[in-house]
Amino acid sequence: MTDKLLPPEKRTAVWKTIDHAARQGQFVLPVCEQCDAIQYPPREICHNCLHDGLQWQEITSAGEIIASTALNASTSAFFREHLPHPVALIKLDAGPLVYAHLARTELKTGDRVELVNRCDINGRGVFIALSAGGTEVIQAESLRAMLSEQRTN
Ligand SMILES: [Zn+2]
Repeated sequence: MTDKLLPPEKRTAVWKTIDHAARQGQFVLPVCEQCDAIQYPPREICHNCLHDGLQWQEITSAGEIIASTALNASTSAFFREHLPHPVALIKLDAGPLVYAHLARTELKTGDRVELVNRCDINGRGVFIALSAGGTEVIQAESLRAMLSEQRTN
């Protein structure tokens, strides 16, 4: 019997809220109580004013692809089995630049997208960029493998 390869699952504690939100179908990020800056990557101290009062909030997830590429190499055994893997940097209308997996390789710089937060096989929230409207079927094989079945432990 061979062990099934899984996507990387190590994360800092601050990401656990994103994992929980993925199970609720919510796209959330921390927002500073003092200056309203949306934090990405998630953190415990505001990147703008260093205030330590951050509140998780649902964020409008529409945005535009700033750069996209397909990964053709990885240190992860899981991803090496599923290359190429399309990823992008998205400028959210709400402000932050966010890295996301692409639902299909045809999505390119300048395309309007909507991010969703879904659970991967490990139960970890992962941000996925869908075409604007957010209803398309995920076509990227590597991403389908990441989401294909949930671990129950
Ligand atoms: Zn702040």
